[in-house]
Amino acid sequence: MSELYPWHQLHWNSLMASRVAKRMPHALLLAGPEGVGKRDFAANLVQTLSCEHPQEGGQGCGFCAGCRLQRAGSHPDNMILLPKEGKQTISVDQIRQVQTHLALKARQSGAKTVTILPAEEMTLSAANSLLKVLEEPPGETVLILITAMLSRLPITIRSRCQRLWFSPPHLEEAQLWLQQRLPPSTKMNSTALLTLTGGAPLRALEYIQQDFLSLREHFIKNLFFLAQGKADPLEITQNYLKNDLGEPLYWMSTLVGDMVRLKGGVSEQFLINRDIADSLQLLAERTDVKMLFRFLEKVDRDLWLWKGQISVNPQLLLEGLLIQWSWYFSEVNYECI
Ligand SMILES: [Zn+2]
Repeated sequence: MSELYPWHQLHWNSLMASRVAKRMPHALLLAGPEGVGKRDFAANLVQTLSCEHPQEGGQGCGFCAGCRLQRAGSHPDNMILLPKEGKQTISVDQIRQVQTHLALKARQSGAKTVTILPAEEMTLSAANSLLKVLEEPPGETVLILITAMLSRLPITIRSRCQRLWFSPPHLEEAQLWLQQRLPPSTKMNSTALLTLTGGAPLRALEYIQQDFLSLREHFIKNLFFLAQGKADPLEITQNYLKNDLGEPLYWMSTLVGDMVRLKGGVSEQFLINRDIADSLQLLAERTDVKMLFRFLEKVDRDLWLWKGQISVNPQLLLEGLLIQWSWYFSEVNYECI
């Protein structure tokens, strides 16, 4: 079973109370940043809705036929909708399959569920088609939409779902959870990791498990080599095209953002990249704040385009940013990290 994180408990208790009162919403919208566990929350909810003997706190028992089928990923009444392999969007044909799924009689005793993620990747016609389901949900049905980009979902969809907002937990709670899971060899402490990942505990853990810290260190070194005129932006771009550009773009945004903060006199302890504060301070002292703001706007716009999977050429996008970085910082004389 998926872990029910301590910072989900309030949402969980509220939904379980609705279930006991037989007022379970037909449509839920789980919204919030990446890395706070929305998908695991949905998996727990689907499990308990399929369970014949839920536990006292509402979670599935893990042993009944419904729980076993759900755990094996073969429960006939539960459907997960993702973009098809090689596609970026969820199509209207996939929503038609949802309609067919919901029209059939339940094979087991629990509610029928459909989990859609990332919900913002539905095409406009898919969203319009889903709207009809949301307006007249058949029988005992729970639709669970998951999104990290709420503003990209049509307002008509948003208004027909009960919204649960998943914020990053309080720092102390996140630290406690993360410290229990970090291997002893971790180079960065939990506070710095959480700062780097926007306070999202699962994302912080992923940084260690996927070794994003080494990738980040490598990327930042390349940026500093560029500024020293010791590297070629076109060559560096080639090294990153095989992977998702989301993290490198995010790192660049936080670096420029930190330089803006330093120019504004913000203390190092409030930086996102506080582990390289000295190097950033040198860069910030020798650059113009207006230029930094312009560049930050450009990086954030490109990051938004990339995350929104709006048709962009990754090579042109990264080359453009690295060339601009070279222009802005090439005259700076500082020591590499
Ligand atoms: Zn069960």
